[in-house]
Amino acid sequence: PFDVLIVGGGPAGAAAAVYAARKGIRTGIVAERFGGQVLDTMSIENLISVPHTEGPKLARALEEHVRQYDAEIINGQQAVKLEQISAGFKVTLASGASLTGTSVILSTGARWRKMNVPGEQDYINKGVAFCPHCDGPLFKGKKIAVIGGGNSGVEAAIDLAGLVSHVTLIEYDKVLRADDVLQRKLKSLPNVTILTSAKTTEVTGDGKRVTGLVYEDRVSGEVHKVALEGIFVQIGLVPNTEWLKDTLSLNERGEIITDIYGSTSVPGVFAAGDCTIAPYKQIVIAMGEGSRASLAAFDYLIRLPAE
Ligand code: FAD
Repeated sequence: PFDVLIVGGGPAGAAAAVYAARKGIRTGIVAERFGGQVLDTMSIENLISVPHTEGPKLARALEEHVRQYDAEIINGQQAVKLEQISAGFKVTLASGASLTGTSVILSTGARWRKMNVPGEQDYINKGVAFCPHCDGPLFKGKKIAVIGGGNSGVEAAIDLAGLVSHVTLIEYDKVLRADDVLQRKLKSLPNVTILTSAKTTEVTGDGKRVTGLVYEDRVSGEVHKVALEGIFVQIGLVPNTEWLKDTLSLNERGEIITDIYGSTSVPGVFAAGDCTIAPYKQIVIAMGEGSRASLAAFDYLIRLPAE
């Protein structure tokens, strides 16, 4: 068995692997897609001390850093079950194989919920964006839309209104669902238009970049076009934790509940990064969380009774 078995190979998992391996303990890291969400990112400009990099380049760097140590990388494998066994934990993979660890760190990340309309997938990183903290500055002075009127959508619209020339906030429902205080702030801004009962039906582009979107007014049935250069989709971030719901405590959004050490409801199982309740999902935060969970797992291991 591994001393520490890490499930998930994004920034959180890679950081956990480096920290564990540097303690000289047997470290394994299993990932469906090593690199995680970073692989889907074009430009990264907020990883402190790295003013600019690209997703695939950072993903390679994460893997190279882990490979400098004696950590075993098992890539292309999906974990489907976590069980407690006498010697610790067993992780079953979709292939039917299994791995065991005296302790486990879960770092399976999350995925942004998509609108699933024509054009959206084609223009990801070409105007369609999901992270205002990451990509907001790329749209400075431009016209954009934010899809979603919950807290994250309205926060994003307020944040972006300070950078871009104009924001159209589009909500499917009759009303916005964000907190009142955020709605009041949003409505006070001069360069924001709010559309409710509006169903986005298409992202349009010129083959290279987004040029607009099409929405249907759900009351009148009329179809409208909006010309713009960017679309921030803010309709939810879904943690990759469906496979864990019978094993440990998740919140109502499916995020793994952890304490400040990254400990979960099951002693010996730790979690880090976007799959947890930790706020503000970012690369640098995921790396910090992975490092901390790894140190906490080490503390757990050295306190286990000698065999
Ligand atoms: P992830 O990166 O999601 O990695 C999860 C890992 O777990 C992957 O290896 C995945 O394959 C694996 N996995 C999932 N389920 C299983 C399973 N059942 N079994 C095995 N493996 C599994 N953040 C920034 O700081 N700056 C940016 O500029 C930025 N831009 C972004 C742009 C886009 C388009 C997106 C989508 C995100 C962006 N983010 C950015 C957010 C950032 O990518 C995430 O916060 C960060 O990657 C989270 O790291 P993580 O390790 O927790 O999870």
